[in-house]
Amino acid sequence: MLTARTKSGTIFSLSNHYEKENLLILRNNEEFFCPVCGEAVSLKLGNQRIYHFAHRSGTFCSDFHESESLYHLEGKLQLFQWLHMQGISAKLEYYDSLIGQRPDIMFHFRGNKYALEYQCSPIPEEIFVKRTENYIHHHYIPFWILGGKHIKAKRGNVFSLSNFNYFFLRKTPSRQLVLPSYCSEEKRFHILSKIHPFSIKNTTASSRILSIHKTKIEEILEPTLFNPINFTKWANEMEKSMINSSLHASPELNHFLHEIYPHNLNLYLLPPEIGLPVRHALLIQTPPIIWQTYLYVDVFQNKSPNTHIDLRDVERIFNDRIKMNNIIIRNLPQLTSVNPFMVVREYFQLLERLGIIIKRDESVYQMQQGFMVPNSNREKEERKQAFFQKNSSILAKR
Ligand SMILES: [Zn+2]
Repeated sequence: MLTARTKSGTIFSLSNHYEKENLLILRNNEEFFCPVCGEAVSLKLGNQRIYHFAHRSGTFCSDFHESESLYHLEGKLQLFQWLHMQGISAKLEYYDSLIGQRPDIMFHFRGNKYALEYQCSPIPEEIFVKRTENYIHHHYIPFWILGGKHIKAKRGNVFSLSNFNYFFLRKTPSRQLVLPSYCSEEKRFHILSKIHPFSIKNTTASSRILSIHKTKIEEILEPTLFNPINFTKWANEMEKSMINSSLHASPELNHFLHEIYPHNLNLYLLPPEIGLPVRHALLIQTPPIIWQTYLYVDVFQNKSPNTHIDLRDVERIFNDRIKMNNIIIRNLPQLTSVNPFMVVREYFQLLERLGIIIKRDESVYQMQQGFMVPNSNREKEERKQAFFQKNSSILAKR
């Protein structure tokens, strides 16, 4: 940690640039205490690591994990100085005794109070959720920034994101979903947006890299977004990934393959209307091609034209699939009060634009034309090409 309480009770912060000789003198003449647990802490002035305070061995402190890395310490300091340089009132390691939490940085900006957590090592989901809820409950805006080394670009605009990475997804004031990260070694932010997963781990995304020296807080809270990558590329990535994963199928995928087989469906011969990107598809961890196939089996298959489909029935069926773990919802602690069924609604809206169904009223759709399941690979390829060509402008709007 970078702050400690002195004997007289004031908070001493290493964020002010002190010379080592002054700190050595101070260390001989002052005692320092942890602001959270009150135990004595040591001022560490090594050459390898950034100057910091550490609990002595044997003390147990609820707040601090002693393995706070150099990467984290430096990033926390850089982010604090970055806010300070912009004239933003910020406190490093501010301890809020009311909630017993200590965000890395607390700051006020445009009438809001933020709790910035720069998280570089994985923490359990319960802790992430508890801290986030506590902040919201006490009128902080939680602002989690992921340690940048965790973001793995596979190639081009394809990224591999873990469940932990997804915790950092936040909604901007203009309701965009962005995943902010910061690398303290490269001293730059990396913002992912327009995240469209095509498998549990892999996703296409728009990516922006911003040097901390040239970036203002506004740009991180509400980043300027670029256009998403095109649908054809996304669909190809998805197909490739499905074929790969079917070669060594997980139990969930095996269940899926066995369930669709009696419906005369298989992974290689699905109609082009299955496996489409919708705006909030990232709320569902199960790949779009799988949950959309379940919807097809449960709702659309064997429905003759003009049959009505009530979304309330669809929602019940969808929730049953969730209960059976056939469809897994992604854990996104910062997106409170989001109903994952909105993704299904978006899919229905897309199917309407594609002419498959017609909207009758708020919750009732009417079947227009069936999905056409291809019988051979060749037929599938032809149909896919025709579908992409005909609907490219509809599919580009996401
Ligand atoms: Zn302590």
